[in-house]
Amino acid sequence: MNLANTSLRQLAQALQARQVSSRELAQAYLERIARLDSGLGAFITTDHERTLAQADAADARIASGTAGPLTGIPIAHKDIFCAQGWLTTCGSKMLSSFVSPYDAHVIEQFEVAGALILGKTNMDEFAMGSSNETSFYGQVKNPWDLTRVPGGSSGGSAAAVAARLAPAATATDTGGSIRQPAALCGISGIKPTYGLVSRYGMIAYASSLDQGGVVAPSADDLGLVLNTMVGFDARDSTSIERPREDYTALLDQPLKGLRIGLPREFFSGGVSADVERAIEAALQEYERLGATRVEISLPNTALSVPVYYVLAPAEASSNLSRFDGVRYGWRASRYTDLADMYERSRAEGFGPEVKRRILTGTYVLSRGYYDAYYLQAQRVRRLIVNDFKHAFTQCDVIMGPSTPTVAFGLGEKSSDPIQMYLSDIFTISVNLAGLPGLSIPAGFGEGGLPVGLQLIGDYFSEARLLNVAHRYQQVTDWHARVPALASA
Ligand code: GLN
Repeated sequence: MNLANTSLRQLAQALQARQVSSRELAQAYLERIARLDSGLGAFITTDHERTLAQADAADARIASGTAGPLTGIPIAHKDIFCAQGWLTTCGSKMLSSFVSPYDAHVIEQFEVAGALILGKTNMDEFAMGSSNETSFYGQVKNPWDLTRVPGGSSGGSAAAVAARLAPAATATDTGGSIRQPAALCGISGIKPTYGLVSRYGMIAYASSLDQGGVVAPSADDLGLVLNTMVGFDARDSTSIERPREDYTALLDQPLKGLRIGLPREFFSGGVSADVERAIEAALQEYERLGATRVEISLPNTALSVPVYYVLAPAEASSNLSRFDGVRYGWRASRYTDLADMYERSRAEGFGPEVKRRILTGTYVLSRGYYDAYYLQAQRVRRLIVNDFKHAFTQCDVIMGPSTPTVAFGLGEKSSDPIQMYLSDIFTISVNLAGLPGLSIPAGFGEGGLPVGLQLIGDYFSEARLLNVAHRYQQVTDWHARVPALASA
C-alpha cells in the first residue's frame, strides 16, 4: 500500500476488508515518521509501544465485527490536546515534562471510535504564532520547501499530513491556526462552528475563540474525522448540544445555483498576484460547476487583526496565569520567596512571544485601559459578527484566499510581530464571529508552493461547506498532489 496516495477512506476500507491490519498500518506510518520527520520536525512525541498496543486492540475489534469507520486508523494529535500517559507540551518549555493524567474530550472520542494515537505534533508555543517558529521544540519545515514555514500554529499537524506521515491530524484554530497552515502546506483543514468540538482538555489560549478541528488531504477525509470529533460535552460550558450529524451526508450534492459571496475587502490589494491567479481559476471552476458569484462586503475586515490582538492576549493573560510553577509545569530551581518563584518560573518557562501576549493582555485589562481597549474591541467584534450576518442574506458561502501569500521563508517575519500578525488577516474575522471555515488546496503559486482557497459558511453549515469543497476536489487534483519528499 502506497501511503503517499491512499486516502483515509481507502485506509478504512482496507482495514474493514482485512487487506491490512491496524498494526501493519501503524508500523508503516511510524516507519515513515522515523525516516522522514528528522528533516521536518513535525512530531514532538511518538510512542511505538502505546500506538501498537492500541493497534492490537483495534485489530481485535475489527475481528469481532464491532468496528466503526475510524477503528484502527492512526491519527496524529496537536500537542495541545491532553492525552493520558502522553507528554503534552503545548510547544512550551513550561510543559516540557508534563505527562497528562487525563484525556481531552476529543481524545476520548477517538478512543471510543477505536482510532490510534500516532503521536503528538509540534506547534507554536501555546498556539501563539503563524509560522511554527515559536515552539520550544524547534521550527517545523514546510514539506514543499524546507526553507519555508509550514504556517502555524498547527504547523506540525499540517506538515505531517502534507508529507503523508499521518492520514489526518487534529488541530486548533483561534485566529487561523487550522486554515493558514493547511493552505501553506497544500492540504485541507476545517475549523468548525465555535462550540461544536469540546475544549475540555484542549489547553486554553483564548477561550472565546479557540476551536478544535482537523487537517487531512481531502474534504471527504475531514468529514469522516469530524464525525468522531464533534459532540456535546458538559465539562465545556460553551459546548453546544445538538443532534448528531453525518458530515459526509451532503458530499455529493450538486452545486447548481450556489451563490458564492466574494468580499470586496478580500480582493482589494494585499494579496500577491500568484495567489490571486489561483483563486480566480478556482472560482471559474466553481462557475463550471453551476455556482454564481455575488460581490459582498465585510466592511470591518481591516479591524479584525487589531481587535483580535486585544481580545486574544486578554484571554490568554487570564488563562496562562495557571502556570505558576506550583501545581504543574516548569518550576525554577532557585528562588528566594513565593513571588520570586512565580517570577522566575514564568521567566524561564515561557518564550518571548508568549510573554509579549501576556504583557499586552494584562495591559488592556488593567484599570483605566479596560474601557478604552478591551470594551471597545468587544464592540467592534459585534460589528464583525453583524457584517457576516448581513453577508449571508446575500450568499450561501463566502470564498477568498486563506492567506495573502504562499509560505514565507523561515525567519522572514520572526523579528517583526506586526508582519506576522497580518498573515492571518483573512482568517481571524471568522473566529471573532465563531463561524465555520475551511481551507482547500487550489493550485500553486510562486516557487511551486501551494495556495489555499478559504470557504466560510454560516453557523453549523459544516456539511454544506464540505460538500462545496468535495465537488471541487472531484474535478481537480490539487489535494492529491504530494511534495517530492513524501513519495521518497
Ligand atoms: N496566528 C494567530 C496568533 O498567533 C492565530 C493562532 C491560532 O489560531 N492559534 O494568535
